[in-house]
Amino acid sequence: MNQSYRYDLVIVGAGIHGASLAYYCAQAGQRVILIEESRPASGASGHAFGWINASALAEPVQHLAQRVIDDYNRLHTELPSFPLRWCGELTYGACQEKQDLSEVGLSLSPLQPLTISQDAIRALEPNLAHPPIRARYMAAAGVTSPVEAIECLIQAAKGFGASVISNCAANELLVESGQVVGVSTQSGNIHGSKTVLTAGLGTPNLLSRQGMHLPIRSSPAIIIKFDVSNNLLNGIVSSSEMEARQAGARTLIAAEDYIDDTQENGPVAIGLRALKAIRAELNGAESIELRSVAVGWRPIPDDRLPIVGPMSQYGGLYIMSAHPGLTLAPTLARLFSQELITNIATPLLNNFRPSRFQV
Ligand SMILES: Cc1cc2nc3c(=O)[nH]c(=O)nc-3n(C[C@H](O)[C@H](O)[C@H](O)COP(=O)(O)OP(=O)(O)OC[C@H]3O[C@@H](n4cnc5c(N)ncnc54)[C@H](O)[C@@H]3O)c2cc1C
Repeated sequence: MNQSYRYDLVIVGAGIHGASLAYYCAQAGQRVILIEESRPASGASGHAFGWINASALAEPVQHLAQRVIDDYNRLHTELPSFPLRWCGELTYGACQEKQDLSEVGLSLSPLQPLTISQDAIRALEPNLAHPPIRARYMAAAGVTSPVEAIECLIQAAKGFGASVISNCAANELLVESGQVVGVSTQSGNIHGSKTVLTAGLGTPNLLSRQGMHLPIRSSPAIIIKFDVSNNLLNGIVSSSEMEARQAGARTLIAAEDYIDDTQENGPVAIGLRALKAIRAELNGAESIELRSVAVGWRPIPDDRLPIVGPMSQYGGLYIMSAHPGLTLAPTLARLFSQELITNIATPLLNNFRPSRFQV
């Protein structure tokens, strides 16, 4: 890499993508600076449900599914405080019908769902008030706590020498002789050999200031937290009535679709409906209370595929964005870090290049 700059990599945006990339690049000895306009995990990542849902990935992303599991396990091994729990996932009701339930019986692959009986469902989730006759069960579904995961990655990146600056927005890309050489910020210019935008919904804004366009749109979703007094769920339950999981001894989390901001269907109304549904669906949930309802804005590429790689308009400029980002980030970041360091493209990322939008 060009040694005349202070940093090998300027990474913009400390969500799950930026934090993962900073970790892998710093671990490999790169001089990394990660800048964040607010505080780490203040974007979509900080609102995520935390479901590591590798089995739901469709081609051409599906070929990364086993790597997703391996990479999360590797992170947990490398960073003992990295939050990770393979808790399994039960799906039933209308949610189940969306899935292919052709596989019944024992599965040889952890990424193949099982169809399980009511007795097995009761054994997995004894607090379900209305266990279905059968459900789809995916053992290789996990959860992480996004805020803690990002904090853990950032601390580890710092341990490898990375600089991490909060409250520091990238205002403009710095361009010299057709090459992006860093970003301008309120506190001055930051120069680097390569600049990677992991700014989620901020990425299209930064690009547009240089006349570039990437179709990443914002899609709202609702995250609801409940105060509970005991453990009500062992894994993730995704049914027509609720999508919920336990998050520590005193918290239950649910995710819901955003409808609109009217009184009838706004986030608070949805939170109250979820409260009612969970009280009805779980034995022992009668006294749970609504703690918070928040809307998170998900950055979703228009074709729903990850965007990873160089922008063709300028040398030195790279993008990483994906949905579902929490699931994919460690794997995309690990593969991408190798590309950035070696300048050798990995075929595993070939379907995801920004150039597909640049006609
Ligand atoms: C309610 C909800 C539930 C979800 N549940 C799941 C789930 O269970 N599993 C899953 O896999 N995914 C889930 N997702 C999706 C997932 O959260 C996102 O795909 C992922 O967090 C995107 O990460 P990111 O790092 O690309 O973006 P972000 O987390 O948005 O991070 C971008 C960061 O860049 C910063 N930034 C922006 N502009 C600038 C700038 N100019 N200068 C400096 N910094 C800047 C922002 O402040 C932000 O911190 C969920 C999302 C929501 C909202």
